[in-house]
Amino acid sequence: MKIGFIGLGNMGAPMALNLLKAGHAVKVFDLSAAAVQTLVDAGAQACGSPKTAASDVECVITMLPAAAHVRSVLSADDGVLAGIATGVPIIDSSTIDPASVKAFAELAARHGNSFIDAPVSGGTGGAAAGTLTFMVGGSASAFEQVKPVLAAMGKNIVHCGDSGTGQVAKICNNLVLGISMAGVAEAMSLGEALGIDPKVLGAIINTSTGRCWSSDTYNPMPGVIDTAPASRDYSGGFGTDLMLKDLGLATDAARSVRQPVYLGALAQQLYQTMSSNGAGRLDFSAVIKLYRCEGGTGSGGGAR
Ligand code: NAD
Repeated sequence: MKIGFIGLGNMGAPMALNLLKAGHAVKVFDLSAAAVQTLVDAGAQACGSPKTAASDVECVITMLPAAAHVRSVLSADDGVLAGIATGVPIIDSSTIDPASVKAFAELAARHGNSFIDAPVSGGTGGAAAGTLTFMVGGSASAFEQVKPVLAAMGKNIVHCGDSGTGQVAKICNNLVLGISMAGVAEAMSLGEALGIDPKVLGAIINTSTGRCWSSDTYNPMPGVIDTAPASRDYSGGFGTDLMLKDLGLATDAARSVRQPVYLGALAQQLYQTMSSNGAGRLDFSAVIKLYRCEGGTGSGGGAR
C-alpha cells in the first residue's frame, strides 16, 4: 500500500519504519530535515509538504505533538486536504482532545475523507517493536478499512466507538499514568530517604500490590530498571511537556462534563513545575527530581 506519513518524532519515526518493514511504500514529511533523512535512508520517499505526502497515496497518517499541529497540517494551503484524493482515510495517532477530533472529522468529511482518531499507548519501545495499542474512534467501516495498516505498527487494535472515543480512552489511560508515575516517584524517593536500597525496594514493589507499569517497566529511580529512561538521564521516552499536555486534555475534558479529577489536577501541577524548571523535554519519569531535591533541571546534583 502507498502511505503518507507526517510527523517523524520519537514515535512517528519508528512507526513509519515499521510500515516500510511491512512492505508498504511510505511518503514522509516532517519540519525536521534530519528526521526525514533517517526515513529516506530506510527507503521512504521525502516530500516537501503535507500536501505532497498526501497525494497519490491510499492512506495518510499523522503523528504530531498537539491539536494545533494537526489543524495546520490538515488545512494549510499546502496541507493534507489540499493534496489527498477523495475516499482516502486520514488516521491521526497524535494525542489530542476529543472535541478537536470531531471538528477535524467534519472538515475531512466535507472533502470526502474519513478522519479516524487512533492514539497509541506503548511508548517509544512499543513503537520500535511494532507492539503499540491503537485506540480507534470512527465508524465500524472506517475501522475495518484502516485496521490492516495499523496492524503493521501495533499488536492491539481496538475499536473504541464513534469519532473521538479513541482519544477518550487515551486521555483516561494517561490520567492514570501521570498519577501512577508521581506515586511511584514519591514512594521510591521516600524509601531512598529512609535508607533502603532502591533496587531492593523496586523489586519488592514489583512483586507486591504497588506494582504497575510505572514501577516495573519505567521505574523513575535511576538504576532500578536498566532499560528505563531514568537509567539514561531521562533522555528519549515520553516528554514531560507531552504528559503535561495530556493531563491538560484530561482536566479540560473533565470540566466539560463537570467530572472531578482531584489527583489528575495535582499531578498536572507536578509536571508543570518540572516544565517551568526547564525539564519539559526530559522523560516524564524525571518528575522524581522534585522529590530528590534536584529541582527538575537535572543540573542540581542535590540528590540524596
Ligand atoms: P515528538 O515531539 O518527538 O515528534 C513530533 C514530530 O512532529 C517532530 O518530529 C516535529 O518536527 C514534527 N512536527 C511538528 N509540527 C509539524 C508540522 N507542522 N509538520 C510536520 N511535522 C511537524 O513527539 P512524539 O513523542 O513522537 O509524540 C507524538 C504524539 O504522540 C504526541 O501527541 C504524543 O502525545 C503522542 N504519544 C507519544 C508517546 C511517547 O512515548 N513519546 C506515547 C504515546 C503517544
